[in-house]
Amino acid sequence: MSKLIVANWKMNPQSPVEAEFIFDGIAKVSKNVKDIDIVICPPFPFLFLSKKIKNKNISLGAQNLFYETEGAYTGQVSSKMLSGLNAKYVIVGHSESRKQGDTNEIINKKIISSLKGKISPILCIGEKERDSHGEYLSFLKKQIHECLALISKSQLKSIIIAYEPIWAIGANATREATCEEFIEIRIFIKRVLSDLYGINKANQMNIIYGGSVHPDNAKTFIFDGGAGGLLVGRDSLIPKKFGEILGAIK
Ligand code: PEP
Repeated sequence: MSKLIVANWKMNPQSPVEAEFIFDGIAKVSKNVKDIDIVICPPFPFLFLSKKIKNKNISLGAQNLFYETEGAYTGQVSSKMLSGLNAKYVIVGHSESRKQGDTNEIINKKIISSLKGKISPILCIGEKERDSHGEYLSFLKKQIHECLALISKSQLKSIIIAYEPIWAIGANATREATCEEFIEIRIFIKRVLSDLYGINKANQMNIIYGGSVHPDNAKTFIFDGGAGGLLVGRDSLIPKKFGEILGAIK
């Protein structure tokens, strides 16, 4: 299966010109890359970049959506609007969106809405900290159960789960996650999914890793950790580094 590398630009860059510049840089470093699907998730105003896509291995994703289909919801964006802009994926449940109020229940509605719009949700889960009693595992289990409520077996294949430990994300990360820590969670997620949907469906699910991924650690999460892909924040804004990540895992 191709690896999925997701570029989460967050609230960057500040102008369409800069966005085109980064996009062109990523397109260049992705040109001859095989067996890797790249998803660029810019802020909403830069989704026009889908018009520039020439490489078959690049698609566009959004960083969020609203679960209602239309109406009086100031400031919100629907799945239909996103698919109209050719977005194929949408990030849901990112810890930064959860911080702004997204609960598991809201995220569940967003997943249902994105699937209706034929957009693949990338569901982020992750704990704030690791405790020695394994409570973080119950926390992750609850996130999976509540975010996937009412999701059927047949819908599961369109969903990607990104394990993003909050302590390893962004410039304020306390430390990087180890490959072993990812393996533990990958197996745990499969176990939870298996209990919900059966082992075959659980095995078909793509589980990716995100949190301070850079050119030096990308390879270990993919090849040693068995990640189906990576979610890259900071280094996805620097085409050279993003290209090095692709180079490390091809
Ligand atoms: C993220 O916020 O999803 C992320 C993975 O960021 P970074 O790579 O900068 O840690």
